[in-house]
Amino acid sequence: MPVGTLASVKGVPQDILEELGVQILLGNTYHLYLRPGVEQVRKLGGLHRFMAWPRAILTDSGGFQVFSLTDLRKVTEEGVTFRSHLDGSTHFFSPESAMDAQIGLGADIIMAFDECTEYPADRERMRASMELTLRWAERSKKHFEEHKNEVPWRNYVGTAAQSLFGIVQGGMDRQLRKESAERTIEIGFPGYAIGGLSVGEPRPLTREVVESTLEHLPTDKPRYLMGVGTPEEIVEYANLGIDMMDCVLPTRAARHGLLFTSEGKISIKQARHAGDEAPLDPNCGCRVCQRYSRAYLRHLYASNEVLAQVLNTVHNLSFYLDTMRAVRHSISLGKETGSPCVQSRPKP
Ligand SMILES: [Zn+2]
Repeated sequence: MPVGTLASVKGVPQDILEELGVQILLGNTYHLYLRPGVEQVRKLGGLHRFMAWPRAILTDSGGFQVFSLTDLRKVTEEGVTFRSHLDGSTHFFSPESAMDAQIGLGADIIMAFDECTEYPADRERMRASMELTLRWAERSKKHFEEHKNEVPWRNYVGTAAQSLFGIVQGGMDRQLRKESAERTIEIGFPGYAIGGLSVGEPRPLTREVVESTLEHLPTDKPRYLMGVGTPEEIVEYANLGIDMMDCVLPTRAARHGLLFTSEGKISIKQARHAGDEAPLDPNCGCRVCQRYSRAYLRHLYASNEVLAQVLNTVHNLSFYLDTMRAVRHSISLGKETGSPCVQSRPKP
């Protein structure tokens, strides 16, 4: 899922996102709540209509962003009081108000309000945080069930149905992750996310926690790993059984001139590209690689042209989406021809 924080994937128009094959976008509740405001989006017919996006949208609960405002927030049983990074004004998110905000925005998939446990944290702190997330998950679900039909409009797909996903926490502790998964499943959601990772822990630990948490999540429901990763990592996680991922990396890196290609990472700002007439990635079919040279992309970046950000982002998104298309293709081939049971069948 490309990240469209403020109802926009920075620098890329919606028709190009469609052309790239984007099926679902992520929007950030915290940012949309502050600007332009949930009520404004709701009055304009919801996020799909407002941003003219006919495909699926997922909104986060706002929890992760609020928790990253370390100096600007206060957590209680009831919820989180925080100060806006824009103007310092004071706001309050609870499981109930986070549900109201996401119901008002109208995304297809919305997320339970959770506490993202910081890293590092001791076991006592990880447990307390996990317990709080479980109580908030129950409150999120209850409020969602009571109010989900109050949306007066229908999204582009012609349905106002929203799905609320639960989030597994538990820090870096395998036992707590197991308990969090089991008790979140007990509450019951149509999909489950693994939260609280990519918060500064070493990558091997991320993988270990993902792997051990996945064992306890149902395989017949979407399993969503929040906030990862590099092209290599998303293939690895898909291989472990993750179905959904989101990351700002392809778009944020693009704006800093860091491009992912089939031949590895390229920093387009480097002088060695100044006279290079070759495409950015000879194996990429995107509109940027089909049309422009590395020399031109380097010139745009060095000259601080807006077009540099646009073209770099289009390519990086294309590379990520191609990567996931290849993953899906190999999964479908595996099902038809490459599954272990087919391979191990004795010859007649
Ligand atoms: Zn390309």
